[in-house]
Amino acid sequence: MKIALLGYGRMGKEIEKIAVSRGHEIVIRKDVDDKIDITLADVAIDFSIPTVAFNNISNCINHQIPVISGTTGWLNEYTKAVNLCEEKQGAFIYASNFSLGVNIFFELNKNLARMMTNLNQYKVSLEEIHHTQKLDAPSGTAISLANDIIAEHSNYKQWKLEESIENTINITAKRIDDIPGTHTVTYKSEVDTITIEHIAHNRQGFALGAVIAAEWIVGKTGVFTMNDVLNIG
Ligand code: NAD
Repeated sequence: MKIALLGYGRMGKEIEKIAVSRGHEIVIRKDVDDKIDITLADVAIDFSIPTVAFNNISNCINHQIPVISGTTGWLNEYTKAVNLCEEKQGAFIYASNFSLGVNIFFELNKNLARMMTNLNQYKVSLEEIHHTQKLDAPSGTAISLANDIIAEHSNYKQWKLEESIENTINITAKRIDDIPGTHTVTYKSEVDTITIEHIAHNRQGFALGAVIAAEWIVGKTGVFTMNDVLNIG
């Protein structure tokens, strides 16, 4: 498969290694805001920066090139991307986290949130830790956990960063050198604490998931999630 990498930073380089090892060819490496011919590729993988992700994605959709995006911090434009994809009959997947482990962690958290719904003595909170170069906070994964997993399956309806308010999910974001991504969900009562945690040891899990998603989406039409790719949930 011919792959376009939209963003050639830490993740772009990791994705290249895994894609090449699986027999794919990298035909575009876009790392600045320059003009590219996206039609040279069979599929595009965007791991860029929040301010350019939507342009990268819409360029692919407008040219009928399936696109995978892992860039976080641009979700105010997600609905526009979905609408464009439907209008143009394109193919698009956004995931805040492409690792298999985190997607299993999401499913565990759905079940846990459901079980905790009526146990009002427990207060939920999230903590995420990432490297100091990360541009957005809280992480896309923490936002997915709060909005799509916990709020969707419990009585909590919103989250707040660094603020502990009644009936909201408090998220703490820490920035520490060289941490690829750690997410901890805690339910705490007066008498005990339940904690589940996902720790990424490196970026390979994210990169492999993105390449698997790219292999999966070619030939399909629609807006998908990692649950579709991994057949879980
Ligand atoms: P990075 O800063 O190392 O790389 C981003 C690259 O984008 C930079 O090299 C930058 O030069 C480039 N860029 C700037 N303008 C561009 C443009 N117009 N077109 C294409 N590229 C452009 O960051 P990273 O660690 O590789 O992470 C990239 C994104 O992926 C971040 O938003 C991060 O939060 C996210 N991320 C997601 C997952 C996931 O599984 N979804 C995992 C890790 C990181």
